[in-house]
Amino acid sequence: MTTANAYPASQTIRTIGILGGGQLGMMLAEAALPLGYRCIFLEDAPNCPASLYGEVFTTEQLDDFVAAADVFTLEFENTPAKTVAWLKQLSDEGTKQGMFPPPEALEVAQDRLNEKNLFNELGIKTVPFMSVNSKAELKEASSQLGLPLVLKTSRGGYDGKGQFVVKTEADIEEAWASLGDAVTGKGNLTPTPAPLIAEGFINFSREVSIIATRAQDGTMRTYDLVENHHHNGILAKSHAPAVGTSHLLPAAKSAIETLMTHLDYVGTMALELFVSKDEQGKDTILANEIAPRVHNSGHWSIEGAVTSQFENHIRAVVGLPLGDTDNVYPSVMLNILGEYPDLGELLKIDGAHYHTYHKEERADRKIAHVTLMPNDVAALDQAIDNLVRILPNKMGL
Ligand code: AMP
Repeated sequence: MTTANAYPASQTIRTIGILGGGQLGMMLAEAALPLGYRCIFLEDAPNCPASLYGEVFTTEQLDDFVAAADVFTLEFENTPAKTVAWLKQLSDEGTKQGMFPPPEALEVAQDRLNEKNLFNELGIKTVPFMSVNSKAELKEASSQLGLPLVLKTSRGGYDGKGQFVVKTEADIEEAWASLGDAVTGKGNLTPTPAPLIAEGFINFSREVSIIATRAQDGTMRTYDLVENHHHNGILAKSHAPAVGTSHLLPAAKSAIETLMTHLDYVGTMALELFVSKDEQGKDTILANEIAPRVHNSGHWSIEGAVTSQFENHIRAVVGLPLGDTDNVYPSVMLNILGEYPDLGELLKIDGAHYHTYHKEERADRKIAHVTLMPNDVAALDQAIDNLVRILPNKMGL
């Protein structure tokens, strides 16, 4: 099917190798195909969402995967940094045409302490934090940072897992008992021994995220701030754009652009932020974490932005100009967790765009999402209510 004259003569990249084969890989492949690029995936999980969109190689078939792709990217941030570094090296030697984002971005994102230290080095504000290697250090952190504090594994946690809120001194024993193993590498909390991070507990007013894409020539395009609502540590709902946040956009934009430039980043990245009050009572943003990949809080952009976060990521990876990131319409994205809703009922909702991930149902698993973009913006809240009513898992909404 693929013949030499099926592509523009200048197109030397045909196949994008994606590390990971989850729903993010699936949506990257959907965005790549209209531009003339096919994706293949490195993934050990059988019947992964991306398997309907391109060939899947297991890690045992790494060499075949590498041979079949021209350029590489990732959709799973806990990809071994060593693999990413090797693919970057092949690209530097001219055997392959790139590994984006660079391994440095992954190393930062895989370790909360590195990440927060980098934020502060670059002048990006965070909650106060300390590294914790022992119960004594946890006690010290509780007196320096004050209580409550949030104790987190610095590596390997996701969707609120590997976290403990220490409310009173009496919780210290239990917090250490549940997370202390991460420091020694015992148990299965983290892939390698690593200190914990204690963070001051922040009474944030809102959680927002900013997504941006950086091209190979350093050009950057930023999406509007999005407001995120979590349930049990998992993203439930994103409003795009976040209403009433235009005063925060310049600082958020500057933070993500500073990070991307510093990391010589190529591709789409997300920065999660807390909105809280500074000493003068003014709204301020505090950086929580980056995702060195396309992000769940950007799924709305498939329908809601001129160019989606997925398409812009693909454009960056293959060296094409980036597209306009403006919102075409206010939109709200809801995740579907655990159990599928009745599609016949769901699609009666005006402006509902449904995306299944072709996964089997399992409690609290992200199996699909819906972006609501009713033609009448005033009907958005009603559309959310109508959708939540038919969702088996209402995610606290
Ligand atoms: P994270 O894994 O860091 O994204 O944390 C998961 C969720 O826990 C966040 O979305 C917040 O709702 C909450 N959280 C994390 N860190 C803090 C903190 N330092 N203070 C208060 N809430 C937090």
